[in-house]
Amino acid sequence: MKKNVDYIKSVGIPRIIEVSETARKKVKSSVEAIGRSSVLILTGENVYNTVGKNIEKKLKDLLLKTMLVSSPRIEEVRKIEFEMELDEVDCVVGVGGGRVLDVAKVVATETNVPFVSVPSTASHDGIASPIASFKEDNRPVSISTNPPAAVLADITVIRNSPIRLIRGGYGDLISNITAVKDWKLGKEKKDEEYNEVAASMALMPAQLLLREAETLDLKNPSHLELLVKGLILSGVTISVVGSSRPVSGAEHKFSHALDYLGYGTGLHGEQVGIGTIIMEYLHEKAYGEGNWELIKQSLENIRAPTTAKEIGLAKEQVIEAIEYAKRIRRKRYTILEDQNPSKEEFEIAIEKTEVA
Ligand SMILES: [Zn+2]
Repeated sequence: MKKNVDYIKSVGIPRIIEVSETARKKVKSSVEAIGRSSVLILTGENVYNTVGKNIEKKLKDLLLKTMLVSSPRIEEVRKIEFEMELDEVDCVVGVGGGRVLDVAKVVATETNVPFVSVPSTASHDGIASPIASFKEDNRPVSISTNPPAAVLADITVIRNSPIRLIRGGYGDLISNITAVKDWKLGKEKKDEEYNEVAASMALMPAQLLLREAETLDLKNPSHLELLVKGLILSGVTISVVGSSRPVSGAEHKFSHALDYLGYGTGLHGEQVGIGTIIMEYLHEKAYGEGNWELIKQSLENIRAPTTAKEIGLAKEQVIEAIEYAKRIRRKRYTILEDQNPSKEEFEIAIEKTEVA
């Protein structure tokens, strides 16, 4: 018997996915296509003024209520559920960045109605994934949810979002490269179940963008569109496999460690981007396959951080975080469990890659 990866509860993929310069205009027809007529919009304060209002207008006949999400916490979910007339809502439309979408997907799952995701930026693969990330008592917590019924990614809207967020999205996409390598290790060393198609779905968009490393420019609409599609595909891959395994390996453990320890000022995608450089180096050193320099160069080209200092981390904190990462989710076999590098080896890795 193959060892199962750690399955989440729901499998299924979005029925409607649109990535275009006018995707926002499809919101009403999408809600109608999934047979719904009584919508709750969840959005953020800033996004409401730029995009939310517009979506509200388009949904006018179907709209029950618009509520503003202020923080990505479970109390916020409870507050929304308490304040809305749950019985009447038959669809939740989330318009916003990662935090708003995380709250919206949990509200939709708990009230058992479809969720329509309208991302205002592309900072990580949560825009289409069945996982919400919250902070409880300053600790990161993941909650599994139903996958969105529809994802409407409007390139015009996303292009106007803060560039730092989009750069973070690239870091999250590129991390699939080491995540899939870790998954393969799990298959080879621990006889873990491995899905070749899902692995390709996670990997291909990252590789396509990496191929453009030298001229990579996220303001270029075709690169941005590829990034957004790649992040959606990553989210869909999680739904197909029923686990975040294809998109989350040792580089994510490193990022989670930073979150647990409360170190630095990096966004999720910035942390995993730097983690990817380090883990790719470790893979290359152990198995002779990989190209950490290319990954680093591509991050530099889009002006995403590639050093600890840029995200407010001291060298000792990076080392402590990698050591801590070894203790996170130990069942998920990665290059860290495989090689069990010593503190000295970590030091060499971050010096060689010039992370710190
Ligand atoms: Zn991620």
